[in-house]
Amino acid sequence: MARFHQLSVTDVTKTIRDAVVVTLKPVNGGDFDFTQGQYLTFRQDFDGTEVRRSYSICAGKDDGVLQVGIKKVDGGAFSTWANDALAPGMTLEAMEPMGSFHTPITPEAAKNYLGFAGGSGITPVLSIMKTVLTREPHSTFTLVYANRGVNSIMFRENLEDLKNLYMGRSSMCWRATRRISTCSQAVWMPTSARPCSNTGSTSKVSIPRSFAGRNR
Ligand SMILES: Cc1cc2nc3c(=O)[nH]c(=O)nc-3n(C[C@H](O)[C@H](O)[C@H](O)COP(=O)(O)OP(=O)(O)OC[C@H]3O[C@@H](n4cnc5c(N)ncnc54)[C@H](O)[C@@H]3O)c2cc1C
Repeated sequence: MARFHQLSVTDVTKTIRDAVVVTLKPVNGGDFDFTQGQYLTFRQDFDGTEVRRSYSICAGKDDGVLQVGIKKVDGGAFSTWANDALAPGMTLEAMEPMGSFHTPITPEAAKNYLGFAGGSGITPVLSIMKTVLTREPHSTFTLVYANRGVNSIMFRENLEDLKNLYMGRSSMCWRATRRISTCSQAVWMPTSARPCSNTGSTSKVSIPRSFAGRNR
């Protein structure tokens, strides 16, 4: 039977208008030492109906925190509640981390990772990217990230920070699925624009084996 543990909500931060990053702390045991790319499954009661939803851990292995990013889905039960009502001091119930969406970290490896993400699908990729850049000092990571518009880019600042912190080993390509006529930012490219610039050789690319049946 699925075992749920209590997690205390220590912080809720709005990243964009319709998404929050929730920081959690286990309060009654459970092994929450996650692998990059894993997710948590929460259960919550809404008017007598139990709802279970999964959210990927967005923190890297070395961030020292347990965090998930939740994007509000119009009319969605859990994501709307998390964005509108969840607050520090509240308690959530979650199962231990699950999922195998990652490649094993090898400190001496010199791989060129290529990650693709769209919208809230950035969460596990961010965790993998942070962990690879920290724990594989000879590897590079290129991220292609698609969003509807500039205002809906989750973790934009974190990604910019990563790019600056690991200059030469990380590169990013932002993609808009809706054309933005007034945007003047150099990093933002319309879908038909030039290809991303790379920082290293792309002859060998590592892509995680599977991406457990997402629909978002
Ligand atoms: C492994 C995994 C990891 C994930 N990680 C993340 C993550 O990191 N971040 C993230 O934001 N999301 C993530 N998701 C998606 C997340 O689990 C939820 O599916 C999402 O947040 C929507 O849940 P909800 O309860 O808000 O919406 P739901 O209540 O499930 O509703 C979804 C949509 O269906 C519509 N709907 C609901 N009931 C009906 C009905 N009876 N008739 C017609 N329409 C209806 C709603 O209006 C809404 O538009 C992940 C999913 C998986 C499987």
